[in-house]
Amino acid sequence: MNLMPRYRQVADNFAIEDRPSKVAAPQLLLWNDSLAKAFNINVVPELRASTFSGNEQQVIAAVALGYSGHQFGHFSPRLGDGRAHLLGAVEDAQNQLWDIQLKGSGATPYSRGGDGRCALGPAIREYIMSEAMQALGIKTTRCLAVVGSGETVYRNPPQPGAIVTRLASSHIRVGSFQYLATQGDVAGLKNLADLAIERHYPKIQATGPERYLAFLAAVIKNQVELVVSWMRVGFIHGVMNTDNTLVSGETIDYGPCAMMNSFDFDTVFSSIDKQGRYAFGNQPNIANWNCARFAESLIPLVNDDDEQAVALMTPIIDGFAEQFNAEFSAMWATKLGLAGTDTADKELIAELLQLLKEHQLDYTITFDALTESLTGGVSIPVVLVQWAGKWQKRTDDRSYTVMRAANPRVIPRNHVIEKILSEYNEAGSSELLHEFMQVMHTPYENTDKLAKFQDAPSSDKEYYTFCG
Ligand code: AMP
Ligand code: MG
Ligand code: MG
Repeated sequence: MNLMPRYRQVADNFAIEDRPSKVAAPQLLLWNDSLAKAFNINVVPELRASTFSGNEQQVIAAVALGYSGHQFGHFSPRLGDGRAHLLGAVEDAQNQLWDIQLKGSGATPYSRGGDGRCALGPAIREYIMSEAMQALGIKTTRCLAVVGSGETVYRNPPQPGAIVTRLASSHIRVGSFQYLATQGDVAGLKNLADLAIERHYPKIQATGPERYLAFLAAVIKNQVELVVSWMRVGFIHGVMNTDNTLVSGETIDYGPCAMMNSFDFDTVFSSIDKQGRYAFGNQPNIANWNCARFAESLIPLVNDDDEQAVALMTPIIDGFAEQFNAEFSAMWATKLGLAGTDTADKELIAELLQLLKEHQLDYTITFDALTESLTGGVSIPVVLVQWAGKWQKRTDDRSYTVMRAANPRVIPRNHVIEKILSEYNEAGSSELLHEFMQVMHTPYENTDKLAKFQDAPSSDKEYYTFCG
C-alpha cells in the first residue's frame, strides 16, 4: 500500500494523523476475493482479520479527514471522519488510485462524542449494497472486507461490532470543499480542487478560473449520470447530504438506503426522513441542490468578486436540469427499448408510471416482464395490456437487447437483506448471503437460483431503514 501524503498537504487541519483503536477479537466475516485480486491486495488469510480491523495498523500513519455537510438542508461546519481511518491507496489496472479506508475503527479527533464504532448489521448491509450496485453497473465505493470486532457496540439494542474496509476512488466529498471554504482557507481549497482534478478529471488542463469552472461542470455531469442510474434500478440513497456526495460521482454511504419495490416517486424508507426530502423521485432535485452548494464552495477559486463568480457559475449549475432531462428520457427509452424518438414517448412513459403507481406494481418485476414479453416468454400484467399495445408499436428487433441491459432481473431486496442480517446476528454467518451474492453478481442474466431472489414483498409500508 503506498501512502498518500497528498491529503496531508492539502491544509494543516484537513487530514489529521490518527490511528485505529484495537479491537478485542477480530474475526474475518466477509472477504471480497475478486476485488482483492483486482487491486493486488495480497494479505495472507491469517493476517486479514487483524489487518482489516485496524489491529495491525499501529505503525501506519493513518489519517482522518475533515469535512462539513448540509445534513437534511442544515449546515454542520465540522463533521469529518468520526469513525473512519484512511490507511493509504492502491492502484487498479488502469493506474487509478483507490483509497483504502477502515470504517468503525475507533474514535478520531472528529468523533464529536460518538464511539467511533460500527454495528455488524450496517457493515454487512454496506458490503451487500455496494457490491450489488457495482454488479448493476452503477458507480460506487467498494467493499473489501467486513471484520467482526468481538466487541459490543452500544446502540439500541446493543449489537455486535464490525469494521468495514471500503475502497473509493477518493473520499473527496462536496463537504470536504465546504469545510475549507467555511474556514476561508483559499489555498487549501485550491490544493483540494487540484488534487480532485488530477485524480478524477485529468483531462482538465485549463488554468485559472476556467480550471475550476470545468471542474464544476465535470462534477455536475457525473452527478447527473449517477442519479439517473439510481432511478433506473429503483435505488433510494436515503441520506443525500453534501458530506455523502463524492466529487468522483461514486455512490457512498449505504446507511439508510433501500430499493424501491412497488413504484412510487414518493417512496421513503429512512426512519428520520419525515419530510421525504430524500424520497425516490426527489433525488434529482437534491443532487442538483448539492451541486449548487458545491459551486458556492468554489467561489473563491473563480473570482475575488462573489457576484462575478456567481454569474460565471450560474449557467453551469442551471445546466444540471437540462442534462438531467435529456439523460432521464434516454434512460426510460432504454428501459422500454424505444426505437428512435417520437413526440408521444413522454406521454407513453408518464402513462405507464401512472399505471404502475395506481396498481402498486413492482418496479423491477414489471420492467423485467415487459422485457421478456418481447420474446413471448412472459405475459404482460393485465392492467398494462392496453398500454402495451401502444408501447409495442414503438419497439423493434433491437429492443430486447437494449431492455435486457437496462432492466435488472434481480436487485438487493430489503427483505432479503434483512434475512441475511438476522442470520448473521443469530449465527455469525449466512449461507443465504453467499447464495444471493452469486445471483446478484450477474443481475441482468438468467442464472440458477434467480427465482429465489426475485419475489417482491407483499408490502413495504412498515419497512424502515436507519443511519448505520
Ligand atoms: P453518516 O451518517 O454516516 O454520514 O455520518 C455523519 C457524521 O457522523 C460523520 O461525520 C461520521 O463520522 C459521524 N459518525 C457517525 N457515526 C459515528 C460514530 N459511531 N462515532 C463517531 N462519529 C460518527
Ligand atoms: Mg465516519
Ligand atoms: Mg456519511
